[in-house]
Amino acid sequence: YSISMPEMQVLEVLGSGQYGIVRRVFHRPTRVHMALKEIRLELNSRALQQIIMELDVLHKARSPYIVDFYGAFFVESCVYYCMEFMDYGSLDRLYPAGVPEAVLGKITLSTVKGLWFLKDELSIIHRDVKPTNILVNKKGEVKLCDFGVSGELNQSLAKTHVGCQSYMAPERISGTGDGPVGYTIQSDVWSLGLTIIEAATGRYPYEISTFTNVFEQLNAIVLGDPPTLPESRYSPAACDFVARCMAKNVSARPVYSELLLHPWMTEAEQTEVNMEDWAARAYSLYLARRDASSRDSMPLAR
Ligand code: ATP
Ligand code: MG
Repeated sequence: YSISMPEMQVLEVLGSGQYGIVRRVFHRPTRVHMALKEIRLELNSRALQQIIMELDVLHKARSPYIVDFYGAFFVESCVYYCMEFMDYGSLDRLYPAGVPEAVLGKITLSTVKGLWFLKDELSIIHRDVKPTNILVNKKGEVKLCDFGVSGELNQSLAKTHVGCQSYMAPERISGTGDGPVGYTIQSDVWSLGLTIIEAATGRYPYEISTFTNVFEQLNAIVLGDPPTLPESRYSPAACDFVARCMAKNVSARPVYSELLLHPWMTEAEQTEVNMEDWAARAYSLYLARRDASSRDSMPLAR
């Protein structure tokens, strides 16, 4: 069985990124609400078919920490990718002023487990760990999406554009990190560290407005001291965890099995946190901000 466009009833736009638009759709045959991602690509139908075929591996990607995949197809020059709809959207909408440490611990634990699952079970390196690719639902579950399963798709996306908010590790920016296998999981571990700091503080640590231009910003990532969690607000264990993820030296960065044994993660594993409640509150605050900014006809604060 393969999913197709005529089966979808389009409901609303959930968001858009550099490569396309994500919409909420109702899949009539199964009566399931899904998120449909449209990726516009200037490729021939053979290359598009190749992407659809490579995405098929995702049917095996079943984990509580990974957004479910329902199928993919292409129409004209767009690839359509159907995945589990996550009611509260991406993490970046849920922390205007940062999240409390216990919640941050749970988010980090789910993310590390998701990344480990991808690597261990499917030999996939994520390649795009960042707050907009960590999704949250009404149950307070935290799941990863948008990982690099398809070589063909990775290549065509890499040729396009890099945003001014880079989560790329220093060795990826300077081009010194390419071993024989190219991308390593350690580069994702850096992006994880940066994502945790952003979620904790509510701010992207290398904010472009603090630099004169994007080259200076990238220079700061490659040559400067890595950012840290604020010690005044976070426990020594949390600060240490992030510092290890953001080691400038690639080989000093821990792998996922090591991260899961870190005291901050074993503590997060044992701590009861009402994630459902946190997520509901954070989401309603997001909706209130969104309504206020649309009333002032200001651009949507992200
Ligand atoms: P970039 O293009 O730089 O990777 P992005 O991750 O925000 O940025 P998209 O992946 O196109 O871009 O996603 C756009 C937005 O759609 C996301 O920021 C997220 O808020 C929302 N979104 C994506 N997937 C889902 C989903 N499965 N359920 C609910 N919302 C989603
Ligand atoms: Mg995304």
